[in-house]
Amino acid sequence: MLSDILKPGTVALVGAGPGDPGLITLRGMRLLEQADTVVYDYLASPKLLRYAPTAQHLFVGKIASRHSLTQDQINALLIEKAQSGHKVVRLKGGDPFVFGRGGEEAEALRQAGIPFLVVPGITAAIAAPAYAGIPVTHRDFNSSFTLITGHEKEQAYQDPETLTRTPATGASDLDWSVIAKLPCLAFYMGVKSLPRITEKLIQHGMDPQTPAATVQWGTTPRQRTCVATLQTLAKAVQQAGIGAPAITIIGKVVNLRQTLNWFESRPLFGQTIVVTRTRDQASELSVRLEALGAHVLEAPTIEVTPNPDLTPLNRIFCSSVSATLPRTFIFTSSNGVRFIRDYLRSNRLDARTLAGSQIAVIGQATAQAVRDWLCIEPDIVPERAVAETLAETLIERGDVAQRHFVLLRAEIARPVLVERLRQAGGTVEDIPVYQTRLVPQLPAELLDALAARQVHWISFTSSSTVQNFISLLGNNYQEKLVGVRIASIGPITTQTIRSFGLEPTVVSEKADVVSLVQSILEYGTGRASTTTRPNP
Ligand code: SAH
Repeated sequence: MLSDILKPGTVALVGAGPGDPGLITLRGMRLLEQADTVVYDYLASPKLLRYAPTAQHLFVGKIASRHSLTQDQINALLIEKAQSGHKVVRLKGGDPFVFGRGGEEAEALRQAGIPFLVVPGITAAIAAPAYAGIPVTHRDFNSSFTLITGHEKEQAYQDPETLTRTPATGASDLDWSVIAKLPCLAFYMGVKSLPRITEKLIQHGMDPQTPAATVQWGTTPRQRTCVATLQTLAKAVQQAGIGAPAITIIGKVVNLRQTLNWFESRPLFGQTIVVTRTRDQASELSVRLEALGAHVLEAPTIEVTPNPDLTPLNRIFCSSVSATLPRTFIFTSSNGVRFIRDYLRSNRLDARTLAGSQIAVIGQATAQAVRDWLCIEPDIVPERAVAETLAETLIERGDVAQRHFVLLRAEIARPVLVERLRQAGGTVEDIPVYQTRLVPQLPAELLDALAARQVHWISFTSSSTVQNFISLLGNNYQEKLVGVRIASIGPITTQTIRSFGLEPTVVSEKADVVSLVQSILEYGTGRASTTTRPNP
């Protein structure tokens, strides 16, 4: 087997797959993790860059609003980076050698004496139909499947994706009389030329009633599919407003979509949902919503950093003075757990430091963080994930006055827990383990989607994210949120939402992520069908 080690001075031409980041190969991902430089283009999922967080990310894609590099400049960039000793991953949408000009890049590297390797990827003509419920071969319908570029050199042509003009350079090498006889065709880069493509096929004898489909942004949450016949497809695609990037598939297999449409029939497919969160939190909510088909736009609102003042933690964990009262450590968020884990590690301590103490937490996610990161089973996890309930639970146990409570939490936190425990006679120490601050701005993709009225839901999982999100949106936040449904995780978050003159559409029954997702699901999506069928 080829080694998965990327050597300095080498370029790996890696297929990123068609859009769904999960469709990159294992080797592609391993090489990405080692890269110093990632040169990527428009169709490679930007989510994959997370696997190379410290590498230099160079976008060389061609999109209308950005200056783009010519192919020669891209080749030169790869050579330059490799020659300066970088481990270079050239991440290309789909497969690097299928209409991706990867062949030209490899030739240039070879000529410059740069070692390279190629990691194939799942190409769009297979993946996009698959996600639209169309198998590209089937024993009953076709025993061949042909990949064709709709972007021919026949005449001066403006690429719809790149808006660059390709001058006429010789005749087409497509022999339509042959192609029209084949049972299953996939066209890349052909949305704008669909009228010409379908006309040529009919002219050369293909049955105008042949089933045909165009799949835009295949395998992504933005996937849209237009099903028609060879005769009606061009018009139907135009009416549906489908543009690049899209694959057109022509053949009887298209009919199988009627029974095999699995991806677009997931319950939240077609719904764009904003998940507000802190920058560092791994978002369980996003994962769950995506699994149900939603298009999730993450909106980090706060950044979390450890409190630089370690004196209180040192006093608790590193002092030789032993506690007089039995201790209860209280974690109110997974961030608190994470920073305590990091603190213990950096002081060469471990879970044994907490041995003999009681551990109480707010919320299932916090409880899980205690299990995962501290290897401790929390003693107290109240049913409802709010400070009041934790206070009640602790007080009901009847030993508050005999315990020393240590709260390990954010610098700014609601005082209720401290107050209630003190009122009940407890000794309480409130330690700010981490600080939070507002991010400079919301992601551009999110602001664009709001402006285009494409957002269906915003989910809020805490009061502070409500406040932060709204302050990041600015003064005319209400205008920006017109028509957007709001999902709130619980009563306190709801209060905060109302204080801004907004009303949640759903409030989750229990204050946890599973219940929040359930309430969005139950509300019903009310979405329009994603399949466009022309009138006969
Ligand atoms: N190397 C790529 C193809 C690059 S050419 C591959 O193997 O898939 C660019 C064309 O690929 C687009 O114009 C479109 O026709 C197709 N394409 C790429 N990603 C796509 C996607 N997610 N959905 C539909 N078509 C896609």
